[in-house]
Amino acid sequence: MKTLKNYIGGELCAPNSRQYLDNFEPATGQVYSQIPDSDEQDIHHAVDAARQAFPDWSACRAQQRSRCLEQLADAIAEHHEQLAQAESKDTGKPIQLSRKVDIQRAQDNLRFFAHAATQFSSESHATNSRTLNYTLRQPLGPVACISPWNLPLYLLTWKIAPALAAGNTVVAKPSEVTPYTAYLLSQLCIDIGLPPGVLNIVHGSGDQAGATLTTHEAIKAISFTGGSQTGTAIQRAVLGQHKKISLELGGKNPFIVFADCDLERAVDTACRAAFSNQGQICLCGSRIYVEEAIYDDFVAALITRMNQLTIGDPSNPKVDFGALVSAQHKTKVQSYLDLAKSEGGELLSATGHLDLPKRCQQGYFLKPTLVTGLKNQSRCNQEEIFGPVATVQKFLNQEDVLHLANDSAYGLAASIWTQDLKRAHQLAADIEAGIVWVNCWLLRDLRTPFGGMKASGLGREGGFEAMRFFTETKNVCIDYK
Ligand code: NAD
Repeated sequence: MKTLKNYIGGELCAPNSRQYLDNFEPATGQVYSQIPDSDEQDIHHAVDAARQAFPDWSACRAQQRSRCLEQLADAIAEHHEQLAQAESKDTGKPIQLSRKVDIQRAQDNLRFFAHAATQFSSESHATNSRTLNYTLRQPLGPVACISPWNLPLYLLTWKIAPALAAGNTVVAKPSEVTPYTAYLLSQLCIDIGLPPGVLNIVHGSGDQAGATLTTHEAIKAISFTGGSQTGTAIQRAVLGQHKKISLELGGKNPFIVFADCDLERAVDTACRAAFSNQGQICLCGSRIYVEEAIYDDFVAALITRMNQLTIGDPSNPKVDFGALVSAQHKTKVQSYLDLAKSEGGELLSATGHLDLPKRCQQGYFLKPTLVTGLKNQSRCNQEEIFGPVATVQKFLNQEDVLHLANDSAYGLAASIWTQDLKRAHQLAADIEAGIVWVNCWLLRDLRTPFGGMKASGLGREGGFEAMRFFTETKNVCIDYK
């Protein structure tokens, strides 16, 4: 059994209390590691380390910070396979997804912000012939980065890379459900000689370690990704503390299919959008709306596509669909299947190819399911299930689907499938979502703003915007005559 450690002040250390939490492998349902159940003392220790490291890190040349991030990206590339296996074991997601998406994108995040660090700039405005305004962007100090379990290394690096690039020091709290890749990252930080205290990684529960970190008086900004309720709890907890907050929260994203679409591509992508990572991606298209004329054909083709998925041991490279992240989460998702029935829905589960070896008999597996026949206002259409359950509804025309899509508390992402360019642009402008894909899904350009509207979040991160979030802006006005 592996015992994980915190990474504080450049060293791996046991939690102050010597208390640990069990870490389960979702594919087997067995405990395979112990993680620090960190308390206030551990958080104080980490924040102190970040405070001490701040003067040197913030004062060093951008090239030096860039080099450190680049070295960390290189180290991830070198340990790509080890990290992918750890991630797949920790989350229950297919190894091929860990390899292609999470670990690759973690590396990309660090490299992108390594380059951004040397390109970051601010503005000056010559107001008239004697007055000049210029903007200083100064790092804030120690900041908190809190990440969820579904894409653990990808989302952790998405937060720490811009914070470090902009000259801040970081205390990160990865999800207690999937801590393993963050632990491996701390070992890589030691290997590359990252200056002590620049990045600190503290493991533990949200209630204890997370809440202590966010409310710590020395923490100047909080970059949080997770559920909407947790985001609201954090906002309340720090009310009056004047911290900068960025919240990347939940979603219930519409996937809109018009009759003039490329049907084959739309079906294939709808299947990926609904069921990748067992439906546990904030950007999943979990509300599918199909124009009346092709509704029956579309649903039939989607079920056929779902039946082609190989469900099984995530460590098998041929598997497309693995286990849900925890027993608790599986129970939650199952409760929505019961709810869907009671709300009048019809459940169409994939009969798919189930290939579960003996070691996976106690794993948290659940087949992908489509639900038809629900009203838009049903709870299954309004609440984030965050599992392999997608709803499908018919729509009549553009106006009708716009109403259905926006009739939601969430506003993270949308995907529109049509060949009609005018319609695509109109809908993209009218849909209440921070990210809109047209004839695609999940494509990312790290220069673009990322984040949701309404209950899906606050602030847009991406590109230089992400670095700006981690700075204090000061305008200096000078009369030089
Ligand atoms: P969660 O909110 O339960 O936990 C996220 C993180 O917050 C964890 O590290 C947790 O320990 C910590 N935490 C919990 N309570 C806290 C508190 N009171 N104070 C400080 N920290 C606390 O979310 P989860 O279940 O890990 O992740 C799933 C959710 O994340 C889904 O809603 C999903 O949509 C969302 N998500 C959003 C994005 C996005 O970019 N918008 C990306 C991925 C996941």
